[in-house]
Amino acid sequence: MRIIRTTQALRTWQRRHDPLRGSIGLVPTMGALHGGHRALIRHARRTCGTVVVSIFVNPLQFGPAEDYRRYPRDLSRDLACCREENVDLVFLPKAETLYPHDFQTTVAVGALSQRWEGEHRPTHFQGVTTVVTKLLNLVRPDRAFLGQKDYQQYCVIRQLVKDLDLDLRITLCPTVRDADGFALSSRNRYVTNTQRQRALALYQALAAGKQAIAGGTRRADLVEKKMVKVLDAGHGLAIDYLRCCDARSLEPLTRLRGTVVLLGAIRVGGVRFIDNLIVRIR
Ligand code: AMP
Repeated sequence: MRIIRTTQALRTWQRRHDPLRGSIGLVPTMGALHGGHRALIRHARRTCGTVVVSIFVNPLQFGPAEDYRRYPRDLSRDLACCREENVDLVFLPKAETLYPHDFQTTVAVGALSQRWEGEHRPTHFQGVTTVVTKLLNLVRPDRAFLGQKDYQQYCVIRQLVKDLDLDLRITLCPTVRDADGFALSSRNRYVTNTQRQRALALYQALAAGKQAIAGGTRRADLVEKKMVKVLDAGHGLAIDYLRCCDARSLEPLTRLRGTVVLLGAIRVGGVRFIDNLIVRIR
């Protein structure tokens, strides 16, 4: 497994990549790798000749009051994980490598990145789309693999790829969860057991919403009421949003039809959790 830390070395690697070795699959990550990342890497491994994983805690996507400094970093475990998963190349840039002192260009997607997460984290998606554009431009993958866990991020990146005519396919991989439904996340490392137990209600609320739809409910307000009831907000648990949306546009729905995504974000004792479920209505 090769490790590359500079953009120059990555460019040289890219230029010398032999097309006979098959397509290039990119799995962009911020490290502290877990089962969710492994699932993306395995999907890439099954479908691409060359698998590239980037590990970069992107300062641009954290707000000033957010957890950039505290974000879990565990390089030796991450590299061991990549070796186990038979990754070909790990791109491991430093912040100064991707953002030198005179850096001044950002890439921003419009309306899609302004609602939901965008409302609560105003500079977040601009940071994501800027770093993803740079990574795609450096690695030039044929495919990139993203997790459903960050569904809005996937929608925003898909829009970016379409709008800028980027030549690659984006594959969405299902959310990997613990046995009780709690979605795996790097940030779970600093969540206490009590917080985790309370935050599990987010998944349970989404699952109840999905069940209500499966049972025939087509009014979004009724599904949302049901989800809020399961979540039972209060006692240090706050709901940022919990809505039924169109899975493509992420517009909130009143009447449910087509492919619907139930999007939720809550805060438990200062830690934010997001999750979602997709429901297809015939
Ligand atoms: P991150 O390292 O958190 O920036 O995530 C890197 C990629 O892994 C993103 O495409 C995420 O959506 C994806 N990911 C994170 N957690 C999970 C999970 N539990 N299941 C599937 N994919 C995930």
